[in-house]
Amino acid sequence: MAPDSFSVLNTGCCIVGGGPAGAVLALLLARQGIAVTLLEAHKDFDRDFRGDTLQPSVLTLMEELGLSEQLLQIPHSKAYQPHMHTEQGDFTFIDYSHLNTHFPFLTVMPQVRFLEFIIEQAKQYPNFQLIMGANVQALIGEAETIRGVRYRGQGGWHEIRATLTIGADGRHSRIRQLAGLKFPKPDASPLDVLWFRLPRYPEEADELTALVGHGQFIALLNRDTQWQVGCVIAKGAYQTLRSQGLESFRQSIVNAVPQFKDRIEQLQNWSQIAYLSVETGCLKRWYRPGLLLIGDAAHVMAPLGGLALTTRSQMQSLQPTS
Ligand SMILES: Cc1cc2nc3c(=O)[nH]c(=O)nc-3n(C[C@H](O)[C@H](O)[C@H](O)COP(=O)(O)OP(=O)(O)OC[C@H]3O[C@@H](n4cnc5c(N)ncnc54)[C@H](O)[C@@H]3O)c2cc1C
Repeated sequence: MAPDSFSVLNTGCCIVGGGPAGAVLALLLARQGIAVTLLEAHKDFDRDFRGDTLQPSVLTLMEELGLSEQLLQIPHSKAYQPHMHTEQGDFTFIDYSHLNTHFPFLTVMPQVRFLEFIIEQAKQYPNFQLIMGANVQALIGEAETIRGVRYRGQGGWHEIRATLTIGADGRHSRIRQLAGLKFPKPDASPLDVLWFRLPRYPEEADELTALVGHGQFIALLNRDTQWQVGCVIAKGAYQTLRSQGLESFRQSIVNAVPQFKDRIEQLQNWSQIAYLSVETGCLKRWYRPGLLLIGDAAHVMAPLGGLALTTRSQMQSLQPTS
């Protein structure tokens, strides 16, 4: 076996985490001519059940960058007025069509396609560097100032020395932990979400829909040949649901969405179901000299009304303490 190697690289900005926050920032900096190195622990961008919806503000940002037309070439679906079906009747629960924007809709696009698109754009700049399979495990500090990171990657340990280090490594951020920064206390959320996929037939409704009834709250997102199904459950109820068995869970889905009776059998085991523990939180301080935290690493959003919840959480955490 080849011995471990050790390399040191210098850059202007080192971004840890190639999710939406890290990738988009890398593109923005690269466009400004700044030397930027993006480190991603995984070897690809395939994040199943992650951030498949793009809010209008994301499209507006892409438009400002001159990229919205290209982005919308990627297969996607749009929801202008998502409906909620309840036992009391139907109503529109979000109306994007009144927004004063060129993009008055919610875009549903696999996050992997979005990330690949952003990275493709960033790669056009020679000052952008992407290192996949780079698992950052330590910060490099001089006195109080962060000067970069140490990661485990191809061939062994490596160091990136940077003027600015960005932690964009998600809700369980290692950088946040290494920097000794903590969410004040997680906001109590009454719900969690289970995500899974079922086939979608061409003749079926194509807009995002929510269904409330039979004790269920279910969101259906159109992913062309598949439905991405979000099933809202009470906080902490996941283990109880599992102990009741998959058949009981499948039956509860069919009770709420009878059209799934002919395909629910495709849910064969719990590994097809992704569990999202809904939490919101916001750092009071999201920097140290030489280091900045962004995205979920700095503020975790809930999947429903994420922006509003974050703003409320942010406001509360920023209240001066007496
Ligand atoms: C199940 C689920 C469904 C969601 N659905 C939606 C949705 O429909 N719409 C929406 O807007 N949001 C949704 N979200 C939230 C959305 O995914 C996050 O808000 C968004 O991905 C945050 O982006 P980010 O770049 O901050 O972090 P992340 O997307 O979490 O990216 C962090 C990246 O850092 C990498 N990383 C982690 N640790 C290290 C390390 N030590 N070294 C190097 N790299 C590292 C990870 O591999 C990852 O690629 C959902 C979240 C979940 C969990």
